[in-house]
Amino acid sequence: MTSLDTDVVVVGGGVTGVAVLRDLALRGVRAVLVERFDLGTGTSGRWHGLLHSGARYAVRDQESARECIEENTVLRRIAPHTIEDVGGLFVLLPGDDEAYAGQFVDGCRASGIPTEELSAAQARRREPLLAPGVRLAYAVPDGGIDSWGLLRSMAADAEARGCRVLVRHPVVGVERDGDRIAAVRVHDRVAGEDRLIGCQWVVNAAGPWAGEIGRMAGVPIRMIAGKGVMVVMASRYVRGVVNACRKPADGDIIVPQHEVAVLGTTSVQVDSPDDITVAPADVDRMVDMCAQMVPSIASGRVLRAFAGSRPLYQPESADGDSGGGDTREVSRTFTVLDHASRDGLANMLSIVGGKLTTCRQMAEALVDRLAERMGVTEPCRTATEPLPGADHGPHRLAAPLAAVEREVAYGELVCECELVTRDQVRAAVAGGLTELEDLRRKLRLGYGPCQAAFCAWRAAGMLAEGRPEGSEDALAGLERFLEERWRGQQATTWGDQARQALLNHAIYRGTFDLRGAGRPDEAAAAGLAPAEPGEGDPTTRVGSELVGESNGRTSSKAGG
Ligand SMILES: Cc1cc2nc3c(=O)[nH]c(=O)nc-3n(C[C@H](O)[C@H](O)[C@H](O)COP(=O)(O)OP(=O)(O)OC[C@H]3O[C@@H](n4cnc5c(N)ncnc54)[C@H](O)[C@@H]3O)c2cc1C
Repeated sequence: MTSLDTDVVVVGGGVTGVAVLRDLALRGVRAVLVERFDLGTGTSGRWHGLLHSGARYAVRDQESARECIEENTVLRRIAPHTIEDVGGLFVLLPGDDEAYAGQFVDGCRASGIPTEELSAAQARRREPLLAPGVRLAYAVPDGGIDSWGLLRSMAADAEARGCRVLVRHPVVGVERDGDRIAAVRVHDRVAGEDRLIGCQWVVNAAGPWAGEIGRMAGVPIRMIAGKGVMVVMASRYVRGVVNACRKPADGDIIVPQHEVAVLGTTSVQVDSPDDITVAPADVDRMVDMCAQMVPSIASGRVLRAFAGSRPLYQPESADGDSGGGDTREVSRTFTVLDHASRDGLANMLSIVGGKLTTCRQMAEALVDRLAERMGVTEPCRTATEPLPGADHGPHRLAAPLAAVEREVAYGELVCECELVTRDQVRAAVAGGLTELEDLRRKLRLGYGPCQAAFCAWRAAGMLAEGRPEGSEDALAGLERFLEERWRGQQATTWGDQARQALLNHAIYRGTFDLRGAGRPDEAAAAGLAPAEPGEGDPTTRVGSELVGESNGRTSSKAGG
């Protein structure tokens, strides 16, 4: 077993853990972050992409609302390159409660969130596809944010300052010495061996899995896995974020993200954060509810659906759970747990709850506490120190096309939907990326309407050329990648997307003889059943759906 020593081990490579690592790095503390898969493969890659103004919480949860508006301002300053400054509307539809609109405006004012009331005509000038019945709207400073871009920038900054990031290193145990943790045991999934990381301190930033890390360390942390389903439409529909101006409920938000729109979401307590299954009924509900705000969504092309689990914390003092049902009543604010005073474990702190928008503030609160315990006097600088890439300015959707116009060339395209070029893939592989899923997260390869019909096999070939000897077989990697794409489409395959699935099937099964027996990393780790041979094969299912047998949407969508 190899070993390594550091001052702080941070567990979890979501936005919270990476923000903690960067904060430690800026204060000159040696730290190593360990993540079981890749950065952003937990909740931080399974969310809407909304840079909250806080307005969603202004009526019910003003502490969260205030945290959001503060961090909305900070992130625009330190990470503009990850943000699309699209703004947001809360729209009042026929039948919505006007009294709620009053509470909404009061709540925003009390939380420090600027709002501007727009007439129906003004709102439709901003959002031409809004339902004709919209009565009025409130404009708020919502935005879009790319979590993978944010994660990469924060991690790069931390690494440049001497901290380390170990991906594909799940924590499998902790070595306790009395009331202290002496070392964290991780499994190096690439080398296939365990490693011990000796440390002075441990930070548990494992999001909805924080309870599992707590169990390994012998301390109780009650987390509630609050699953939310999101639906991806094949185009944006809206210029900015559109929310329903009513008590948060299913299907009340549309977030434009890169070339697509994300519809959200449900909020249901599940047994495990690894439950990321999507029921077709949830997809139908999201589409129907969001179509009340933007009617053309009802006849639009649904690309895929996915789910994530909110890292909701249940304090020990609270009774029971959220009743196994809607988890919207659980506060979205965050808590730092110091296990010394709480549980008699001297050198571990946990950070639980919160939002992606508030990750930096969460990290600051935790590292302030840790620094005090460590005797580090360096103050937090993460709110003022821009991240690498910030000098590019705000993210603009049209930037890739503008580059094509400027250079009068597309480059040699590997992924036509997302304009990913051969040079970009080559550079990413040369920079150390080894899996198609990594290329997807970095370059958006395979995200577009064709769901990787052509780019995955092209990129798999490039990866195979660039890979060190003995690394994963190219076809096995391709198969895993396609399984993940297919998993996202299982509940959404009708109409045009069904035709696309049939084409993809013909390419991958017909040409490469891939049979869909692989399973994605996350599903494998969650112990989900491997796909049966043929289950990844869309022919039977898609064929029947096209003729209207199984999906409620089929009859209305098949001709779309
Ligand atoms: C449906 C939905 C929509 C949302 N929408 C928004 C939104 O629009 N705006 C917003 O601001 N927030 C949103 N959120 C909340 C936001 O996504 C989360 O608060 C945030 O991503 C949590 O980040 P995290 O780092 O705490 O957790 P995670 O991102 O889950 O990170 C925890 C990490 O720990 C790793 N891990 C687990 N076990 C181990 C182990 N044994 N060893 C090593 N690593 C381990 C996991 O793999 C994971 O990467 C949404 C959440 C959901 C579910």
